[in-house]
Amino acid sequence: MSELRLMAVHAHPDDESSKGAATTARYAAEGVRVMVVTLTGGERGDILNPAMDLPEVRERLAEIRRDEMAKAAKILGVEHRWLGFVDSGLPEGDPPPPLPEGCLATVPLEEPVRELVRLVREFKPHVMTTYDENGGYPHPDHIRCHQVSVAAFEAAGDYVLFPEAGEPWNVLKLYYTHGFLRQRMQLLQDEFAKHGQQGPFEKWLKHWDPDNDIFAKRVTTRVECAKYFPVRDDALRAHATQIDPNGDFFRAPIEWQQRLWPTEEYELARSRVPVSLPETDLFAGIEDV
Ligand SMILES: [Zn+2]
Repeated sequence: MSELRLMAVHAHPDDESSKGAATTARYAAEGVRVMVVTLTGGERGDILNPAMDLPEVRERLAEIRRDEMAKAAKILGVEHRWLGFVDSGLPEGDPPPPLPEGCLATVPLEEPVRELVRLVREFKPHVMTTYDENGGYPHPDHIRCHQVSVAAFEAAGDYVLFPEAGEPWNVLKLYYTHGFLRQRMQLLQDEFAKHGQQGPFEKWLKHWDPDNDIFAKRVTTRVECAKYFPVRDDALRAHATQIDPNGDFFRAPIEWQQRLWPTEEYELARSRVPVSLPETDLFAGIEDV
Protein backbone atom coordinates (compact mmCIF):
# COMPACT_ATOMS: atom_id res chain seq x y z
CA MET A 1 0.00 0.00 0.00
CA SER A 2 1.39 3.39 -0.92
CA GLU A 3 0.97 6.33 1.44
CA LEU A 4 -2.51 6.85 2.85
CA ARG A 5 -3.68 10.28 3.91
CA LEU A 6 -6.44 11.39 6.29
CA MET A 7 -7.73 14.95 6.68
CA ALA A 8 -9.75 15.82 9.79
CA VAL A 9 -11.59 19.15 9.46
CA HIS A 10 -12.52 21.01 12.66
CA ALA A 11 -14.05 24.33 13.65
CA HIS A 12 -11.83 25.44 16.56
CA PRO A 13 -8.53 24.55 18.18
CA ASP A 14 -9.37 21.81 20.78
CA ASP A 15 -12.12 20.16 18.66
CA GLU A 16 -9.48 17.87 17.11
CA SER A 17 -8.63 16.64 20.61
CA SER A 18 -12.21 15.89 21.65
CA LYS A 19 -13.70 14.45 18.45
CA GLY A 20 -11.93 11.52 16.84
CA ALA A 21 -8.60 12.35 18.50
CA ALA A 22 -7.63 8.78 19.37
CA THR A 23 -8.44 7.72 15.80
CA THR A 24 -6.09 10.32 14.33
CA ALA A 25 -3.38 9.41 16.86
CA ARG A 26 -3.72 5.74 15.93
CA TYR A 27 -3.56 6.28 12.18
CA ALA A 28 -0.61 8.64 12.55
CA ALA A 29 1.22 6.07 14.70
CA GLU A 30 0.54 3.44 12.04
CA GLY A 31 2.18 5.52 9.31
CA VAL A 32 -0.83 7.25 7.76
CA ARG A 33 -0.25 10.94 7.05
CA VAL A 34 -2.84 12.81 9.08
CA MET A 35 -3.61 16.49 8.67
CA VAL A 36 -5.88 18.38 11.03
CA VAL A 37 -7.40 21.52 9.49
CA THR A 38 -8.84 24.13 11.86
CA LEU A 39 -11.19 26.62 10.25
CA THR A 40 -11.00 29.37 12.88
CA GLY A 41 -8.53 30.63 15.45
CA GLY A 42 -10.92 30.10 18.37
CA GLU A 43 -10.60 33.79 19.20
CA ARG A 44 -14.05 33.94 20.84
CA GLY A 45 -13.73 30.87 23.02
CA ASP A 46 -14.42 31.29 26.72
CA ILE A 47 -11.75 30.38 29.22
CA LEU A 48 -13.15 27.17 30.63
CA ASN A 49 -10.35 26.32 33.01
CA PRO A 50 -10.66 28.36 36.26
CA ALA A 51 -6.90 28.11 36.83
CA MET A 52 -6.26 29.89 33.51
CA ASP A 53 -8.91 32.60 33.85
CA LEU A 54 -6.47 35.47 34.35
CA PRO A 55 -6.46 38.94 32.75
CA GLU A 56 -3.07 38.34 31.07
CA VAL A 57 -4.40 35.12 29.54
CA ARG A 58 -7.59 36.79 28.33
CA GLU A 59 -5.61 39.55 26.61
CA ARG A 60 -3.46 37.11 24.65
CA LEU A 61 -6.07 34.39 24.10
CA ALA A 62 -5.72 34.11 20.32
CA GLU A 63 -1.94 33.77 20.58
CA ILE A 64 -2.15 31.31 23.48
CA ARG A 65 -4.60 29.15 21.57
CA ARG A 66 -2.15 28.92 18.66
CA ASP A 67 0.51 27.60 21.05
CA GLU A 68 -1.95 25.17 22.62
CA MET A 69 -2.91 23.87 19.18
CA ALA A 70 0.73 23.35 18.19
CA LYS A 71 1.29 21.33 21.37
CA ALA A 72 -1.83 19.21 20.81
CA ALA A 73 -0.85 18.46 17.19
CA LYS A 74 2.58 17.34 18.36
CA ILE A 75 1.05 15.06 20.99
CA LEU A 76 -1.35 13.50 18.47
CA GLY A 77 1.45 13.14 15.92
CA VAL A 78 -0.48 14.99 13.20
CA GLU A 79 0.24 17.78 10.75
CA HIS A 80 -1.80 20.92 11.27
CA ARG A 81 -3.02 23.81 9.17
CA TRP A 82 -5.16 26.86 9.95
CA LEU A 83 -7.73 27.91 7.40
CA GLY A 84 -7.54 31.46 8.77
CA PHE A 85 -11.17 32.38 9.48
CA VAL A 86 -12.47 34.15 12.58
CA ASP A 87 -14.41 32.38 15.34
CA SER A 88 -18.14 33.26 15.31
CA GLY A 89 -18.56 32.74 19.05
CA LEU A 90 -21.52 30.98 20.60
CA PRO A 91 -24.40 33.49 20.65
CA GLU A 92 -26.16 33.29 24.02
CA GLY A 93 -29.42 34.93 25.02
CA ASP A 94 -33.05 34.94 23.95
CA PRO A 95 -33.19 36.08 21.26
CA PRO A 96 -29.50 35.45 20.53
CA PRO A 97 -27.47 38.50 19.50
CA PRO A 98 -26.47 38.82 15.84
CA LEU A 99 -23.22 37.14 14.79
CA PRO A 100 -20.16 39.40 14.70
CA GLU A 101 -19.33 40.80 11.30
CA GLY A 102 -16.65 38.99 9.31
CA CYS A 103 -16.76 35.77 11.33
CA LEU A 104 -16.76 32.32 9.71
CA ALA A 105 -20.54 31.92 9.90
CA THR A 106 -21.21 35.23 8.11
CA VAL A 107 -18.63 35.25 5.31
CA PRO A 108 -19.96 33.80 2.02
CA LEU A 109 -19.68 29.99 2.11
CA GLU A 110 -17.63 30.05 -1.07
CA GLU A 111 -14.67 31.70 0.70
CA PRO A 112 -13.88 28.94 3.22
CA VAL A 113 -14.82 26.29 0.64
CA ARG A 114 -12.23 27.68 -1.78
CA GLU A 115 -9.53 27.64 0.92
CA LEU A 116 -10.38 24.09 1.96
CA VAL A 117 -10.46 22.93 -1.68
CA ARG A 118 -6.98 24.42 -2.06
CA LEU A 119 -5.72 22.40 0.91
CA VAL A 120 -7.45 19.22 -0.24
CA ARG A 121 -5.85 19.52 -3.68
CA GLU A 122 -2.47 20.07 -2.05
CA PHE A 123 -2.61 17.31 0.61
CA LYS A 124 -4.64 14.84 -1.49
CA PRO A 125 -6.40 12.98 1.33
CA HIS A 126 -8.09 9.65 0.64
CA VAL A 127 -10.45 10.16 3.57
CA MET A 128 -11.92 13.27 5.19
CA THR A 129 -13.76 13.59 8.51
CA THR A 130 -16.04 16.40 9.64
CA TYR A 131 -19.19 16.94 11.78
CA ASP A 132 -22.74 15.94 10.97
CA GLU A 133 -25.30 18.54 9.87
CA ASN A 134 -26.05 19.39 13.52
CA GLY A 135 -22.41 20.13 14.18
CA GLY A 136 -22.24 17.73 17.15
CA TYR A 137 -23.48 20.70 19.15
CA PRO A 138 -25.18 23.82 17.87
CA HIS A 139 -22.25 26.23 17.58
CA PRO A 140 -22.56 28.22 14.33
CA ASP A 141 -18.95 27.39 13.41
CA HIS A 142 -19.62 23.67 13.83
CA ILE A 143 -22.63 23.81 11.51
CA ARG A 144 -20.50 25.84 9.12
CA CYS A 145 -17.67 23.31 9.38
CA HIS A 146 -20.08 20.63 8.16
CA GLN A 147 -21.25 22.78 5.24
CA VAL A 148 -17.73 23.79 4.22
CA SER A 149 -16.39 20.22 4.40
CA VAL A 150 -19.22 18.67 2.39
CA ALA A 151 -18.97 21.38 -0.26
CA ALA A 152 -15.18 21.00 -0.46
CA PHE A 153 -15.50 17.20 -0.72
CA GLU A 154 -17.82 17.68 -3.70
CA ALA A 155 -15.85 20.50 -5.34
CA ALA A 156 -12.24 19.37 -4.93
CA GLY A 157 -12.50 16.76 -7.70
CA ASP A 158 -14.37 19.03 -10.11
CA TYR A 159 -12.02 20.79 -12.52
CA VAL A 160 -14.69 23.38 -13.36
CA LEU A 161 -14.82 24.62 -9.77
CA PHE A 162 -12.08 26.79 -8.24
CA PRO A 163 -9.63 26.23 -11.14
CA GLU A 164 -7.23 28.67 -9.43
CA ALA A 165 -7.06 26.38 -6.36
CA GLY A 166 -4.97 23.56 -7.85
CA GLU A 167 -5.35 20.29 -9.75
CA PRO A 168 -8.58 18.37 -9.05
CA TRP A 169 -8.40 15.63 -6.41
CA ASN A 170 -11.18 13.19 -5.55
CA VAL A 171 -11.36 12.38 -1.86
CA LEU A 172 -12.70 8.81 -1.71
CA LYS A 173 -14.65 8.78 1.57
CA LEU A 174 -16.24 11.39 3.83
CA TYR A 175 -17.18 10.64 7.43
CA TYR A 176 -19.17 12.47 10.10
CA THR A 177 -18.58 12.43 13.84
CA HIS A 178 -21.63 12.99 16.05
CA GLY A 179 -20.54 14.24 19.44
CA PHE A 180 -21.41 12.34 22.60
CA LEU A 181 -23.09 8.96 22.46
CA ARG A 182 -25.75 8.27 25.05
CA GLN A 183 -25.01 4.55 25.35
CA ARG A 184 -21.36 5.17 26.08
CA MET A 185 -22.20 7.78 28.70
CA GLN A 186 -24.73 5.45 30.35
CA LEU A 187 -22.20 2.60 30.50
CA LEU A 188 -19.66 4.82 32.22
CA GLN A 189 -22.30 6.21 34.58
CA ASP A 190 -23.33 2.62 35.49
CA GLU A 191 -19.69 1.75 36.14
CA PHE A 192 -19.42 4.56 38.69
CA ALA A 193 -22.52 3.14 40.39
CA LYS A 194 -20.97 -0.37 40.43
CA HIS A 195 -18.02 1.11 42.27
CA GLY A 196 -20.33 2.79 44.77
CA GLN A 197 -19.65 6.24 43.35
CA GLN A 198 -21.89 8.98 42.05
CA GLY A 199 -21.04 9.37 38.34
CA PRO A 200 -20.82 12.83 36.76
CA PHE A 201 -23.23 12.26 33.87
CA GLU A 202 -26.62 12.08 35.60
CA LYS A 203 -27.64 15.60 34.61
CA TRP A 204 -26.91 14.81 30.95
CA LEU A 205 -28.62 11.43 30.87
CA LYS A 206 -31.76 12.64 32.64
CA HIS A 207 -32.70 15.00 29.80
CA TRP A 208 -31.59 12.71 26.98
CA ASP A 209 -34.25 10.50 25.42
CA PRO A 210 -32.79 6.97 25.01
CA ASP A 211 -34.76 6.63 21.75
CA ASN A 212 -32.86 9.57 20.35
CA ASP A 213 -29.92 7.27 19.69
CA ILE A 214 -27.41 8.32 17.06
CA PHE A 215 -25.33 5.22 17.76
CA ALA A 216 -28.11 2.87 16.60
CA LYS A 217 -29.38 5.09 13.82
CA ARG A 218 -26.31 6.52 12.12
CA VAL A 219 -23.00 4.96 13.14
CA THR A 220 -21.51 2.85 10.34
CA THR A 221 -17.90 2.61 11.44
CA ARG A 222 -16.22 1.87 14.77
CA VAL A 223 -12.47 2.40 14.94
CA GLU A 224 -10.63 0.57 17.72
CA CYS A 225 -8.30 3.12 19.31
CA ALA A 226 -8.34 2.43 23.06
CA LYS A 227 -4.54 2.38 23.24
CA TYR A 228 -4.58 6.04 22.22
CA PHE A 229 -7.08 7.31 24.82
CA PRO A 230 -4.24 8.57 27.04
CA VAL A 231 -2.80 10.43 24.02
CA ARG A 232 -6.24 11.97 23.39
CA ASP A 233 -6.43 13.16 27.00
CA ASP A 234 -2.91 14.62 26.88
CA ALA A 235 -3.83 16.49 23.68
CA LEU A 236 -6.99 17.81 25.32
CA ARG A 237 -5.08 19.01 28.36
CA ALA A 238 -2.67 20.85 26.04
CA HIS A 239 -5.62 23.20 25.38
CA ALA A 240 -5.18 24.47 28.89
CA THR A 241 -7.45 27.53 28.56
CA GLN A 242 -10.31 25.41 27.20
CA ILE A 243 -10.23 22.31 29.34
CA ASP A 244 -10.70 22.04 33.06
CA PRO A 245 -8.43 19.13 34.05
CA ASN A 246 -10.79 18.52 36.98
CA GLY A 247 -13.84 18.45 34.68
CA ASP A 248 -16.41 15.65 34.37
CA PHE A 249 -14.86 14.15 31.28
CA PHE A 250 -11.62 13.25 32.96
CA ARG A 251 -13.37 11.53 35.87
CA ALA A 252 -13.98 8.11 34.27
CA PRO A 253 -10.72 6.16 34.58
CA ILE A 254 -9.06 5.40 31.24
CA GLU A 255 -9.12 1.69 32.08
CA TRP A 256 -12.95 1.73 32.26
CA GLN A 257 -13.18 3.56 28.97
CA GLN A 258 -10.77 1.13 27.31
CA ARG A 259 -12.66 -1.88 28.62
CA LEU A 260 -16.24 -0.66 28.15
CA TRP A 261 -16.01 1.36 24.94
CA PRO A 262 -12.68 0.94 23.13
CA THR A 263 -13.74 2.65 19.90
CA GLU A 264 -14.55 5.99 18.29
CA GLU A 265 -17.60 6.16 16.05
CA TYR A 266 -18.22 7.56 12.57
CA GLU A 267 -20.92 7.71 9.96
CA LEU A 268 -19.87 7.11 6.37
CA ALA A 269 -21.59 10.02 4.62
CA ARG A 270 -20.18 9.78 1.07
CA SER A 271 -18.09 7.14 -0.67
CA ARG A 272 -16.60 6.89 -4.13
CA VAL A 273 -15.44 3.29 -3.49
CA PRO A 274 -17.56 0.18 -2.87
CA VAL A 275 -18.01 -0.42 0.85
CA SER A 276 -19.41 -3.09 3.10
CA LEU A 277 -20.98 -1.79 6.31
CA PRO A 278 -20.43 -1.87 9.21
CA GLU A 279 -16.70 -1.19 9.05
CA THR A 280 -13.80 -0.92 11.48
CA ASP A 281 -11.37 1.08 9.34
CA LEU A 282 -11.84 4.49 7.70
CA PHE A 283 -9.71 3.27 4.79
CA ALA A 284 -11.75 0.08 4.17
CA GLY A 285 -12.36 -0.38 0.44
CA ILE A 286 -9.56 1.94 -0.60
CA GLU A 287 -7.19 -0.06 -2.73
CA ASP A 288 -3.61 0.80 -3.46
CA VAL A 289 -3.90 4.17 -5.17
ZN1 LIG B 1 -15.59 23.97 18.53
